[in-house]
Amino acid sequence: MLALYRRIKNEAGQWKAEKVREGRGIRTSDIKGPFFVRPMVNGKQERRALHSESFADAKIEAAEVETLCEAQSKGLSVADLTGQMNSNRIPIKAVVATYLELKKNKAKKTQQQYRLTLNEFLESLGKVKFLDEINVTVLRNYKNFLAAKGFAGKTIDTRVNIVAFLLKKNGIAARVPKDEMPAVEIETAVPYTDEELKKMFGEMTEEEKVQYKFFLGSACRDREVTYAAWSDINFDKGTYTIRSKPEVGFTVKNHESRTVPLPDSLLKLLKDRRKRMPDSRWIFTNGAGSPANHFLRRLKKIALRAGLNCGQCTTTIMKGKYKWRKLVTVTCKTDPVCEHIYLHRLRKTCATRWAETGIPVRTIQHYLGHSSLETTTLYLGVADSDKMRDKVNVAFGD
Ligand SMILES: [Zn+2]
Repeated sequence: MLALYRRIKNEAGQWKAEKVREGRGIRTSDIKGPFFVRPMVNGKQERRALHSESFADAKIEAAEVETLCEAQSKGLSVADLTGQMNSNRIPIKAVVATYLELKKNKAKKTQQQYRLTLNEFLESLGKVKFLDEINVTVLRNYKNFLAAKGFAGKTIDTRVNIVAFLLKKNGIAARVPKDEMPAVEIETAVPYTDEELKKMFGEMTEEEKVQYKFFLGSACRDREVTYAAWSDINFDKGTYTIRSKPEVGFTVKNHESRTVPLPDSLLKLLKDRRKRMPDSRWIFTNGAGSPANHFLRRLKKIALRAGLNCGQCTTTIMKGKYKWRKLVTVTCKTDPVCEHIYLHRLRKTCATRWAETGIPVRTIQHYLGHSSLETTTLYLGVADSDKMRDKVNVAFGD
């Protein structure tokens, strides 16, 4: 991938070429052209001006220039090089590479998911090489390709959507018709019952109790707990402020910081904890002092010990060490793989408790960091029938 350059005036008033920096925490959408690239042509570095104004467009253009220069170096026209007649066509491979570059400041997991999905998409394309060749048939083939691999409807839906987003960004409107997509059961997160929580917390170490109480008391997302710093806690006001920390690759969703009040019992635990770790930046660290993660993995282990797994889930995982390492099929009866156990349910549990105690929905929206109120209302869903029993009785005069 060719690097992008800009001309920048230095303090002495001279124009200098500056390589455009990319990576986690750098918002490239703010960077404006004119850009240029420095491709190698026949072993010599050249300077080529780009016409694109925005960073995203310039990346695509740079990929085209790269192909062009590659052809020139080999003494071929691009048409020869690609075996196609039209040299203005954009290879899908270049589009995917650019797209992945642009996602570089996303979470590692998200990047992996995109890379996996888009490489699989390329694999499904066969002889199709150019963006302008993509039509409904090509996408339908891709969907069937995924189905033939035995993926569940939900997985197919997610992956087809990632590809659709890439195409939309590149001006391609073709989509798999909705009625041909696999049916996806929309399963909303169910709050944990008090009984389930009691069992889970009963299996936790003291350290784990604080961590999962933080999830339960703040309704925070996984990464919002990982990157919780002591400086974000206001002990006077009893709040946690979720803010971006670009230097470690953490950006708040919807570009908005927010402040969540924490329950007193949690604040007390945190206060004691602060005394024991006065030099730490992060509230939860792993052994090496970096922010703790793997909260999900540990929750699944805790749930298994607590006997909360449904016993029905099966999945394949890697097991064993070194040369004995292999894929084996396991069930959630014996392994920490129950798909009904996940962190988001703690967030949901907290939100539900907030709603049930009468905190206004607009306030809950802010605490959850939802940009639209509709998300919050859908999220809170329908109250548990057990808890509504008294009200139902009152409604009937019973
Ligand atoms: Zn299960």
